[in-house]
Amino acid sequence: MASELTPMMRQYLDIKDKHKDAILFFRLGDFYEMFFDDALVATKILHITLTSRGSTKGGKIPMCGIPYHAANNYIARLVESGKKVAICEQVEEPTPGKNIVKREVVQIITPGTFLADEILDESINNYILSFNSRDGLYGLAYADLSTGEFRVTEIDNKEQLFSELYKISPAESLVPEQFSKDDLFKEFEDVSLGAITVNEDWYFDKELSRKEIIEHFSVGTLEGFGCEEMNLAISSAGALLRYLKHTQKTALNNLDVITSYNANQFMVLDRNTQRHLELVQNQEDLSSKLTLYDVLDKTKTPMGKRKLKRWILNPLLDINSINKRLDVVDYFVAEGNKRKYVRALLDDIYDVERLSNKTSMGTANPRDMVALSYSLKGIDVLKSKIKEVIPLHLENIIKNMDPFKDVIKLIDERIIENPPTTIKEGGIIKEGFSEEVDELNCLVKGGKDWLMELQKKEVERTGITSLKVGYNRVFGYFIEVTKANLSSVPGDYIRKQTLVNAERFITAELKAQESKILGAQDRIKNLEYDLFSELRHDVGLHIDRLKKTADLLAEIDVLSNLSEIAIINKYTRPRITDKKNLELSDARHPVLENILKQKEFVPNSVNMDDAENRIFIITGSNMAGKSTFIRQIALINVMAQMGSFVPAAKAEISIVDRIFTRVGASDRLYHGMSTFMVEMLETANILNNATESSLIILDEVGRGTSTYDGVSIAWAVIEYIHKDLKGARALFATHYHELTELSSIMKGIKNYHLAVKEYNEEIVFLYEVKEGSCDESFGIHVAKLAGMPLAVVERAHDILENLHEDSFKGNIKTRFSKKENLPREQLDFFNMKKENSILEKKIKEIDVNSLTPIDALKLLAEMKDQVSE
Ligand code: ADP
Ligand code: MG
Repeated sequence: MASELTPMMRQYLDIKDKHKDAILFFRLGDFYEMFFDDALVATKILHITLTSRGSTKGGKIPMCGIPYHAANNYIARLVESGKKVAICEQVEEPTPGKNIVKREVVQIITPGTFLADEILDESINNYILSFNSRDGLYGLAYADLSTGEFRVTEIDNKEQLFSELYKISPAESLVPEQFSKDDLFKEFEDVSLGAITVNEDWYFDKELSRKEIIEHFSVGTLEGFGCEEMNLAISSAGALLRYLKHTQKTALNNLDVITSYNANQFMVLDRNTQRHLELVQNQEDLSSKLTLYDVLDKTKTPMGKRKLKRWILNPLLDINSINKRLDVVDYFVAEGNKRKYVRALLDDIYDVERLSNKTSMGTANPRDMVALSYSLKGIDVLKSKIKEVIPLHLENIIKNMDPFKDVIKLIDERIIENPPTTIKEGGIIKEGFSEEVDELNCLVKGGKDWLMELQKKEVERTGITSLKVGYNRVFGYFIEVTKANLSSVPGDYIRKQTLVNAERFITAELKAQESKILGAQDRIKNLEYDLFSELRHDVGLHIDRLKKTADLLAEIDVLSNLSEIAIINKYTRPRITDKKNLELSDARHPVLENILKQKEFVPNSVNMDDAENRIFIITGSNMAGKSTFIRQIALINVMAQMGSFVPAAKAEISIVDRIFTRVGASDRLYHGMSTFMVEMLETANILNNATESSLIILDEVGRGTSTYDGVSIAWAVIEYIHKDLKGARALFATHYHELTELSSIMKGIKNYHLAVKEYNEEIVFLYEVKEGSCDESFGIHVAKLAGMPLAVVERAHDILENLHEDSFKGNIKTRFSKKENLPREQLDFFNMKKENSILEKKIKEIDVNSLTPIDALKLLAEMKDQVSE
């Protein structure tokens, strides 16, 4: 079969053979062509026409193609659907006589390594992660090629691993083959969301990885990176480097440092909490609309946006570090002029992080270089403007910011103010920088003047007033004469091209001049390209300094932004304590208060501690504001610990190590799990992972099953938090009234309710949180509000009244037992305190210290008999 193929198709198949897992973009002139199966897959994803080219014994060869200059949009779609794309270019100029040019794959683009400007979202990091595990320990390494970040960490707890993975949200994850067979892999796939690339196990070999890293960073040991002891993280990092080098086929100079960190420095927010609290992504369309990030973001630079997101997802646990940030926010709140000035300066700063990264990778264009220089110029001014009495942290930031006078000079002396984005077409280098470029430009200009002269001369000579000298890429310079004037064309004109209305000619003189001009132009383009590349390389050498300063700029951006937001939204500085308390006066929900347009948000106060006021049971009608209230407390905690002011009149907040939430019903039916199963999984996760410093937010836990089941589970959950998670603070919103009984049995549990008022047979929600429990659910009123047919509403009223009457007669027990097939008596343990049962009396009488095991068993049997009676 192969013998029938053209040499080019044979070349194609050779290359394709080495890139089986990618769609091969095969460069043919101005197109990237795809063949065989690749073509079939691509036409489906890209909606482009399938054609064919040549044939094999098996029939015609399917083919499709896309123009090379629009490739990024197509690649984006392929990559988004999880494909990899191998870019195969012509790597030599076609030479006459040789029938095939050499081609090579120059880059493999994968979901985690796609960097096209038009596709990258400026506020989102595009991470590629490498993962490896052994005996319950997990090694993570991840990088963003667009910013040059490269981070490693090790985690020894599954829940924390998932919390971290969800925070990182990698576009692509590399895992060893071995792990792809592990039980954990399914869950991993579920959380990491992005594409998964399975690599052979040797990729992750510890020694090979260490060698890879040491060579890449040209260091003797990994101690300087603080990860010498992190064997698993190192093997992940080495695998990642190897994969990136294999796919990018560059030296990756932009990855110049590994940052190792301890995930324990940050609040653990498990994936449900991240989702439920809608921190950076909403649950509706996964965008950032109506999220905490949305409310807090008025940053001026893309790197500020990315940092703000990272801060929201990683609240701090160290009081000093939090206060350092709060001090600066405070400063910029108080110093309005300074804040305005700094923010105005930041307006003129581009994405220094990504720009310097592109410079180092050799992908920056002339306009990028000018943008970089322009941005750096702001730093010196910024430094000079904030320097008097300022918080220590801000002083350090300012002190460490590099004004980059040298880099600015390098760029400015070489590149014109408004350069093109192309690098091979010239028009980049400033006059006066290179004598050679200037001379060549003179030559070209002289040549062009000569052409103008020629046109004048020829018009005179031939008498054809419409005669023109023109240029096109195929034929070069020509003299154009309209058909009507052809009779006046002199004998020394050589016909070159016929158009509908005109003929084009050349002369020997014109050709001689042409080669002079074109020769000079080619030389200028080459020379300018060289001069530009040299500059880009030289600036790229400063990547380390540039990245550091970019990070400081981002921090100033975020901090001054938080001040701006605090002023606009009337936030106050929280006092961070180590007292295990939470005292908020007139607190608001940061997102909801911004959405409510017509009505005012009703603020509420809370006072929690680790003793008397540790667990709150919050009841209230449907729609009364329970969920809002408990979420706002969690959000305020996140805000305080990330270093932001908070929506409250006064706030005292102690450090929380983890926040857990179980909010509403989130079905994951496509995973074969019912709402209730999900609810129970999430609740189990909370109980198994919460610590004594955690904040637990439970919203209607138990709702997904029958009432008795639900109440029982809810009851037991609260009991567990009370007994086994001493110190943990919990807020439990529920419509199960029975739960309010807990407060009378257990110290530390308090009842609160959301007040409503009845007015003209309607209920009015007051959204005020008050002590004690409420007594009615007002569900029927809500049904009416929702536009339920009046007949249904009235009938429901009747039934409710009957139920109430029945309950007075004691008949409610039988009514319940009919419906639920469960005796009402089962609920009686809720009433233990009121009606001291015989059993309880008996239990109280037991002297456990003197009871033998045999006696204990006997007693148990006795009690069982009694209950069975
Ligand atoms: P519940 O959980 O009790 O059913 P929600 O917390 O979901 O009630 O609140 C229902 C609606 O009531 C919210 O969407 C919001 O419009 C309004 N709401 C809640 N709390 C407040 C408040 N404190 N001030 C003003 N409106 C509120
Ligand atoms: Mg609710």
